[in-house]
Amino acid sequence: QFDRTPLIAGNWKMNMDHQQGVALLQKLAWTLQDAKHDFDRVEVAVFPPFTDIRSVQTIVDGDELKVVYGGQDLSDKDSGAYTGDISGEFLNKLGCSYVLVGHSERRTIHQETDEQCLAKINAAFRHDLVPVLCVGEGLEVRKAGEHVQYTLEQLRGSIKGLSAEEVARLVVAYEPVWAIGTGEVAGPEDAQEMAEAIRKDLADLYDSETAAATRILYGGSVKSGNVGSILKGKDVDGALVGGASLDAEEFANIAKFEQ
Ligand code: PEP
Repeated sequence: QFDRTPLIAGNWKMNMDHQQGVALLQKLAWTLQDAKHDFDRVEVAVFPPFTDIRSVQTIVDGDELKVVYGGQDLSDKDSGAYTGDISGEFLNKLGCSYVLVGHSERRTIHQETDEQCLAKINAAFRHDLVPVLCVGEGLEVRKAGEHVQYTLEQLRGSIKGLSAEEVARLVVAYEPVWAIGTGEVAGPEDAQEMAEAIRKDLADLYDSETAAATRILYGGSVKSGNVGSILKGKDVDGALVGGASLDAEEFANIAKFEQ
């Protein structure tokens, strides 16, 4: 009874210059059109590098494509002397709907903390962007059996003080770090276990209606061959896809996970 339209999101990371990005998006658009993809049933999003976003906007607007898009990161500030940073306001003006926050590569390479993720989530909401908050444990934590506790602590630290309305709009992506770009995929039970734990925690922190509205994705080596079983989990509302989103046909096949 809750509107949790499945979301298939492609994170291009630092791949695809703007010309390659245009070619990829055009091929994706043709493939989805050929497949008569129903965008109201399954939302499709891409997260290109910042330098591609203007080109992506031109294609989406020009072709009236229903693919939505977002930034891979944003500043927690709105404007000013922050060399190299990108404001949520700029992303909004380029037609972005979403923005990734706290991807594990940001957390590890740029040492982003939960507090910074929270500040970025607040910045996203200030500019009418839906944040996709990434959480998930590394291999050592998983081996120690502490993955649920670890991931919930990351979640709590990154959403502290958000309103119930904001949490209901938020997308949470559970991405076990050991499964990102490794070919190692969490089993469907692992994805469901964590998605259920996240939803239960949101219900405890807020209320069950809020928790029932939040979309929870799985990410980590998702491909067309494994997406169907992963998305069978009743609390798993979609997938965040890295490597496989760089191949238009494969990504379109992932978006067809129901067939
Ligand atoms: C990601 O980077 O968000 C991701 C899930 O990557 P991959 O699909 O390549 O594991």
